[in-house]
Amino acid sequence: MVDQTEQALPARDPIYPLSGKRVWVAGQRGMVGSAVARRLAALGCVVVPDRPDRLDLRRQDEVADWLSEARPDAIVVAAARVGGILANDTYPVDFLEDNLLIQTNIIGTAHRIGVERLLFLGSSCIYPRLADQPISEDALLTGPLEATNQWYAVAKIAGIKLVQAYRRQYGRDYISAMPTNLYGPGDNFDLNSSHVLPALIRKAHEAKIARAESMTVWGSGTPRREFMHVDDCADALVYLLQHYSDDDHVNVGVSSDISIHELAMLVARIIGFRGEIVLDQTRPDGTPRKLLDTGRLTGLGWSSRITLEDGIAATYRWFLDQSELRSIA
Ligand code: GDP
Repeated sequence: MVDQTEQALPARDPIYPLSGKRVWVAGQRGMVGSAVARRLAALGCVVVPDRPDRLDLRRQDEVADWLSEARPDAIVVAAARVGGILANDTYPVDFLEDNLLIQTNIIGTAHRIGVERLLFLGSSCIYPRLADQPISEDALLTGPLEATNQWYAVAKIAGIKLVQAYRRQYGRDYISAMPTNLYGPGDNFDLNSSHVLPALIRKAHEAKIARAESMTVWGSGTPRREFMHVDDCADALVYLLQHYSDDDHVNVGVSSDISIHELAMLVARIIGFRGEIVLDQTRPDGTPRKLLDTGRLTGLGWSSRITLEDGIAATYRWFLDQSELRSIA
């Protein structure tokens, strides 16, 4: 985890003060949800714990029963079926259907039991494949999606629209945020389903330990991506929960990007792998570039504080700690 003690206080008085509020983070066992829960707890919120026996968020009756009992004041919807380029392409039904069910159950039930505030999370893949860079919120639905993650993207677009619909039809104070590519503690390091950054950390680490001559990177290495540490993102999301109320979704990112090849070299340097980086061009590249325009977020008074280099180093320490724990267990 990256030390956040130096983070400045919010620049403005919140429109929704969180102190003392009971907030349920759907997906609080995941990378993003657990980071949001830590940030909320640091602000003096009561983070409503998950039901001890695992709740199936795809089941409307289970979600309704749980929320009627837990009665949070606010909800952050960080629960989703997520995965990298290969997983998305391989399990289209899971990515479309599970995400539609999860978000519809939570948002609809929140309205029915009178939850006063809700933040829905999507992702930068909602935008057209060839959107102008950096991508502004207004680019939504202006062109065709990237084929490899269209299933996830369509579900998330429906979620944004559902939040807007509850605002319009019922006056609910619900909002949406679209984070860029996230990484950090709690990430998925499985090479078949992970995103690129945890995959590269694992590959560089294993290549270093094995004294291998090379490590393999998928695709041409030329696509560019924007990476944000999950603690930085959680800080921005909680800031939005306190400071933002409008129909439009808000991009959450760090306003800079890097090519996959440069990223592989950076990860290798931080980890200490000195061998060759080999490109496997039989693997897909996905979207050529997706850098978010974060003007709306910075205009509200928030800015990113964790550099990519610090974030990767912290995530690598977490990965090593976990590997050690697994080998002891
Ligand atoms: P995307 O942002 O939805 O395309 O998802 P990913 O994070 O899975 O992939 C981002 C880019 O990194 C794509 O161009 C991948 O081909 C590339 N990449 C390079 N090596 C890897 C790897 O080992 N795993 C993954 N998931 N992507 C990789």
